[in-house]
Amino acid sequence: MSATFLSGTNGVHNAMDEAVDQLYSWFAPPAPAAAPLPEAACSANVYVLIGAHRVQVTLRGHDESEVLARVQRVIALYPDQPQSQPREQLSPQQHGALAQHKRVTDVCPVHGVTMRRNEKAGRSWYSHFLEDEGRWCKGR
Ligand SMILES: [Zn+2]
Repeated sequence: MSATFLSGTNGVHNAMDEAVDQLYSWFAPPAPAAAPLPEAACSANVYVLIGAHRVQVTLRGHDESEVLARVQRVIALYPDQPQSQPREQLSPQQHGALAQHKRVTDVCPVHGVTMRRNEKAGRSWYSHFLEDEGRWCKGR
């Protein structure tokens, strides 16, 4: 016996099933479920100031230049942006210590910015917030 698989059959062959399959073959197939979005090959985060709100816009795509073109378009929509993130200025002492590669407890050796002292449950540590990465850095 040669098995012929009609699209839409359940693969089980008995008379009753085939009759049901024949019947249902007249119906339009169910709409396919929305396919999950494929993993984006590249993405870019843009921070734009819209009114008083700093909004993170995430653009995803499969082509870097295409995503970058969209980034530029988003930026062009909101030309009134502050030029740069204000950074805490280092004191001359801190600059000097950094220049001599001394470890300064309240200056991050990785990013060269002032760190804030934190205390919790009897422990203390220094950290600063990385705006670009959305995380705290402890100078390591
Ligand atoms: Zn840091």
